[in-house]
Amino acid sequence: MTAINLPLVRRLTGKLSGIPLRIQITAMCCSFVVVVSLVTWIIVSRSQEQVIQFEALKLADIVVNQAASARSAYSSLAVSKLKADGLGASEFSADQPGHIPLPAQFLKDLSFRSQQDNNGLFSFRPISKWNLAPEHGIRNKFQEWAWEQLESQNRRAPETPLEWTPVWRISEDEQGKVLRYLTADPAASPSCVNCHNALEKRADVIAKRIASGVKPGNQWQLHELLGAIEITIPLDRVAALAREQTRDGLLIVLGITIIGVCGVCFIVFYDVARTHAATEKLAFHANHDSLTGLPNRFALESTLNELVMENEEQARGESATLVFLDLDNFKQINDTLGHETGDKVLTMGANRIAQAVAADGFVARLGGDEFAVVLPGKSVEQVNAIAGQIADSIIQPYEVEGYKLSLGVSIGAALFPENAHSTSELLRCADVAMYTAKNGPLTFAWYDPASDTNAVSNLVMKDELREAIENDTLDVHYQPKYCLNTGRMTGVEALARWHSPSAGFVPPDVFISLAEHVGLINDLTSLILNNAASQCQRWRQMGFDLTVSVNLSAMNLHDGTLPTLISNCLSTTGLPASALILEVTEGTVMTDIERACEVLSQVRSLGVTFSVDDYGAGYSSLSYLNKLPVSELKLDRAFITHVGSSEKDAVIVRATLELARNLGLTMVAEGVEDAAALDFLCSIHCDQVQGYFLCRPLPAHELERRLPYIHRFSPVALHDSGSGQASDLSSEEIPRDKAA
Ligand code: C2E
Ligand code: MG
Ligand code: MG
Repeated sequence: MTAINLPLVRRLTGKLSGIPLRIQITAMCCSFVVVVSLVTWIIVSRSQEQVIQFEALKLADIVVNQAASARSAYSSLAVSKLKADGLGASEFSADQPGHIPLPAQFLKDLSFRSQQDNNGLFSFRPISKWNLAPEHGIRNKFQEWAWEQLESQNRRAPETPLEWTPVWRISEDEQGKVLRYLTADPAASPSCVNCHNALEKRADVIAKRIASGVKPGNQWQLHELLGAIEITIPLDRVAALAREQTRDGLLIVLGITIIGVCGVCFIVFYDVARTHAATEKLAFHANHDSLTGLPNRFALESTLNELVMENEEQARGESATLVFLDLDNFKQINDTLGHETGDKVLTMGANRIAQAVAADGFVARLGGDEFAVVLPGKSVEQVNAIAGQIADSIIQPYEVEGYKLSLGVSIGAALFPENAHSTSELLRCADVAMYTAKNGPLTFAWYDPASDTNAVSNLVMKDELREAIENDTLDVHYQPKYCLNTGRMTGVEALARWHSPSAGFVPPDVFISLAEHVGLINDLTSLILNNAASQCQRWRQMGFDLTVSVNLSAMNLHDGTLPTLISNCLSTTGLPASALILEVTEGTVMTDIERACEVLSQVRSLGVTFSVDDYGAGYSSLSYLNKLPVSELKLDRAFITHVGSSEKDAVIVRATLELARNLGLTMVAEGVEDAAALDFLCSIHCDQVQGYFLCRPLPAHELERRLPYIHRFSPVALHDSGSGQASDLSSEEIPRDKAA
């Protein structure tokens, strides 16, 4: 297994995967046919060659046997008979009446005649090193080589006939392919031996031997090598025939293979085509919503994944906006008119979204009444415009089954890569933005990381904030409140301050809302409350008759432990209940007015007073003011800051003061930033004031240092100074933009 070159296999399969399946199959079939043909051709040719060889050798064997038999018959029937009659065989039989040729001469003659008669099918000839006729001597290379082989098998004076192995070779010459075959023709009978031995002793033969370089006077024993019979069989004719047969056979095999392969190809292609169609259908269903035909969540995620991957791999810096849409009131239509009608409305809505987006982006249905749109490379203005078009088209009436129905839509948008670097994070951000829109007054909202408590940065801050609360490292700054009538500092407002290790200074509204979202608000309130109460008690003990105002969050009011928390705080710090003012905003109370009233009353019964903070910024509902056990109204700084110059603000401030008076509440004007505002508030006899013009929020030790100088001020002096800035009141060292 380890020998397999995996990278190579992977590279090959990788290359193959780019080629269409049909081409792969066709190429494989063609290769198969070629290989089958080649192998068939090689096997058939080889086996035919072997058969030819075998048959040729058999033929050679037959010819040799026939020739030997013919000579033997001649020798026993003719020569022996004539000898018995007193005549015989003679070398010179032609000149000797009653004599016939020697058996060896007979064999030569037979070979000559048979060659003429068999139409070139084969030829045989007796040859020998000692043959006196040159055409029957050893004349060519094959004969030399083969004669040597036979000589090596020869033994001197064997007692029994030797086992001769024929020698053969297939060679190509000018006549073509031929089988050359040589087998021993030993001295088979004593007469044959005698005759040849006698011949060798003749003077003329000895002379001929010397002339031709052969050792004269050779004497044979029975069975020794005397001569040989050479058979030559031309194979061309039979080879051509075999080739023809091979070709025919090959064509048949090829035909059958091609038909078989075509059949297999047809079945495979047919099956592939069917599977392809089915796969495409499945892929469509896997990527599209069956009701609206729009791409589904899976397709959306694939598109976003591609975008994220391309951005990572190619660092193209492409941007995109993911827009989330949720139809408002759709559930109502479904519930009241049924799913069939609901489906029709949904389909119409989907078409309208797709038309509004047109070619600008990719629309998908996420399920239910949720849709998403990917808008690549669009500016914020363009996205705003497209979101507007979608909202406009969605709110147009839907005429379905005689009903005229209407829908709303909440749209949220998140930016890639600014808000998120991954698909899941981008989806989450767009979802958060959509919910912001749903819970707010507007149809459309962009994702805001600051208000996303689950954003990674907020998760880090969450841990840091928890640590700060646990380690009591949150700061509390104090901002004085003054009574305009006496010029005396009546109390201070405790304002939480936090420097996050990762983000630096974090504005209180941001970390307070984070604490609310992550369940830390009760601990935070408890911490600020205890710090503020003990600090105030310290100043009171120093002789400054001050109250302390602590801000409460909506969640504190819905927490049943608030009364206990406050009574514990008062008892541990020793602060009189009358010196503690708890500030609640209108929104805090209005979310669950019954419950708020209950908790407020319980706390009020301890002797603690309540102040309505930021009055005018929210509901400004008069009805609840009557119901709540509050004793102070802090008018929002939005009406105070420019009251010196704005007639409209002046009217509101005057009216609110009137209202406070009528309800028996003390009015505090917060956000006094200049002498004009202070002047105006003095002129209308506002009860109390708070603002940068008088004093910025200060750390406890700093305020303590200044208390002897600032616990009292003279409005007249301030007014007279004309400087627009209270002389002894310095600023808190926090960034202006963050403090604002
Ligand atoms: P708030 O309770 O209305 O507090 C007054 C805010 O107005 C403070 O902002 C203060 O610094 C600012 N301010 C005071 N005078 C002026 C002025 O003349 N001009 C301007 N432009 N601003 C002035 P800060 O400290 O940033 O606090 C913002 C809000 O955070 C507070 O509004 C309060 O709602 C909340 N907050 C602060 N500390 C706590 C706390 O301990 N608990 C809770 N639940 N909320 C807190
Ligand atoms: Mg406040
Ligand atoms: Mg306020």
